[in-house]
Amino acid sequence: MVKPKTEEEIALLKENGILVSKTLAVVGRAVAPGVTTKQLNRLAETFIRDNGAIPSFLGYDGFPAALCMSVNDTVVHGFPSDVVLKEGDIVSVDCGTLYKGYNGDSAYTFPVGEVDAETARLLAVTKESLYKGIAAAVDGGRTGDIGHAVQTYCEAAGFSVVRELEGHGIGKQMHEVPGVPNFGKQGRGARLTNGMTICIEPMINAGTRGVYLANNGWEVRTADRRKSAHYELTVVVRKGAPELLSTFDYIEGKVEF
Ligand code: MG
Ligand code: MG
Repeated sequence: MVKPKTEEEIALLKENGILVSKTLAVVGRAVAPGVTTKQLNRLAETFIRDNGAIPSFLGYDGFPAALCMSVNDTVVHGFPSDVVLKEGDIVSVDCGTLYKGYNGDSAYTFPVGEVDAETARLLAVTKESLYKGIAAAVDGGRTGDIGHAVQTYCEAAGFSVVRELEGHGIGKQMHEVPGVPNFGKQGRGARLTNGMTICIEPMINAGTRGVYLANNGWEVRTADRRKSAHYELTVVVRKGAPELLSTFDYIEGKVEF
């Protein structure tokens, strides 16, 4: 049984969610051919600290940076590096904050300059699958409803779902129960109840679903070396419809800040 959060806790999680969302927007504005992921990481760390928060990924199980930056065939957990982004690449930026004792965690995959049509479709389908999953995060549902929604949408589009990694509960810890897989059957899995706070984060491959762990013990890459996309938002389960605790509105210019 997962303990729901109080409204006070949810408000603190939302403060984190908004900060993470703004950080991703700051990074997104700087994504361009010629930029390194290390430069982008530095921007994010500065912005997070300037807002009085801690970049929660830095030092997490020894992770070396504020952001996970995963380029092209890297699915997640990429290390920021001196490798220069080039036109046509995609980069998944995953960001976490710790602020007032609670966590934020969201991710967005940015195109670098112009990407080819199939890559653009991978990004669009993966992001839309996240919203399909979110729509299933309602009181009385199950985590399998979320996974089913993500999986059926992505597979119908001809893409595949990474199964080795999943979303999660969030609170005082970045990773709490329940796990939230991106595949599954309706009516199966952990029960969703009003006030549960979860991160939903589809990781979707252009090709086959197989992945492998790189030699550094962190970076997860596609087995077929084709591209992978990743989007993540934090939500609170409610009756009827969930409430977003993080947003892409800053990234996408729908809200100014
Ligand atoms: Mg994340
Ligand atoms: Mg997460």
